[in-house]
Amino acid sequence: MSATLSVVIPVYNEEAGLEALAERLYPVLDALGRAYEVIFVDDGSRDRSAAVLRQLFERRPQRTRVVLLTRNAGQHMAILAGFAHTRGDYIITLDADLQNPPEEIGKLVRALDQGADYVGTVRARRHDALWRKAASRLMNRVRERTTQIRISDQGCMLRGYHRTIVDAINRCLEVSTFVPALAYTFARHPVEVEVAHSERAAGQSKYSIYRLIRLNFDLLTGFSVVPLQFFTMVGMVVALISLAFVVVLAVQRIFIGPEVQGVFTLFGLAFFFIGILLVSVGVMGEYVGRIYEQVRQRPRYTITAILESEPLQGEFPGTASGPASAAGSSPDHRRGDLEPPSRANPALDHTEMLRAEHEPGRTP
Ligand code: UDP
Ligand code: MG
Repeated sequence: MSATLSVVIPVYNEEAGLEALAERLYPVLDALGRAYEVIFVDDGSRDRSAAVLRQLFERRPQRTRVVLLTRNAGQHMAILAGFAHTRGDYIITLDADLQNPPEEIGKLVRALDQGADYVGTVRARRHDALWRKAASRLMNRVRERTTQIRISDQGCMLRGYHRTIVDAINRCLEVSTFVPALAYTFARHPVEVEVAHSERAAGQSKYSIYRLIRLNFDLLTGFSVVPLQFFTMVGMVVALISLAFVVVLAVQRIFIGPEVQGVFTLFGLAFFFIGILLVSVGVMGEYVGRIYEQVRQRPRYTITAILESEPLQGEFPGTASGPASAAGSSPDHRRGDLEPPSRANPALDHTEMLRAEHEPGRTP
């Protein structure tokens, strides 16, 4: 039997584009001719995204699962929440805004069939704002120099992972991470393929400059301590230079006598080094803050509800006994993440209701 697919899509305020996405995505997956599931993770959207997702689920209950997060947890946490609920042998991630053409999924599946366990992608012609492309190029270069992660285009989220990689990721409890980089650290046979890229179909990018900076700090601090070491090195060099400077000044004082030249040069130098000092304290803070968040061990995201029905008979071996077992399986994988409270109280569980409605044979 050919490998089964799980497609994970994080959704944050994407009401305008979700219908168009479904119209293109499902036919592509049908045409692949294998069992699949699409897992939408609503990342605490404040628009009608959750309602649209519910409609998509009701239209194709056997093929669709929706994980509704309580609050916005960020794209990468949303993907992790989706990963925890996947059942397929191959897992594909995709953006909801149609910037990643669903038609390219076949390419990733072929690479996985050929033995790759991680399929990275390079956007052939990227359609984004100029400043985004320039910033990406810079960050790609910084990441190449400071981490062991070798990926050509870190920003493209259309990616394929083998089950083994996603299982490894599910065992990680990081409060901040960058999914493609984390996956890469577990990969044995990583490959890259070129994929097309389009402009956003509807809505706007969810990343402000501030959120992009935060995300890139997640990447750097999560996979490297080089930024810390960099400031140690800078500190040592500055200390040596200023030692030499003091010697020169002392010699001048003794042999030439007192003089007040260069006061403003000294000011300039002092401010420059104060700048370096502040940045280095900030970088240290980025690490300390993440350590602090990690030790508090709060849930990384909370789930309000999961819309799902039984998979078709035998389609996802091992988990075919249904969602109840999926929820109960290996609880350690999700330590620190809050499952819906409704699981403890079936009377409140929308999921159960929807499940009952869509159980095979019982569907009206
Ligand atoms: N996204 C999310 N949570 C967030 C921000 C973004 O789930 O907090 C989703 C978003 O709905 C989209 C994907 O992540 O499916 C990529 O976001 P976006 O297209 O805004 O990023 P860009 O393409 O501008 O990098
Ligand atoms: Mg986008």
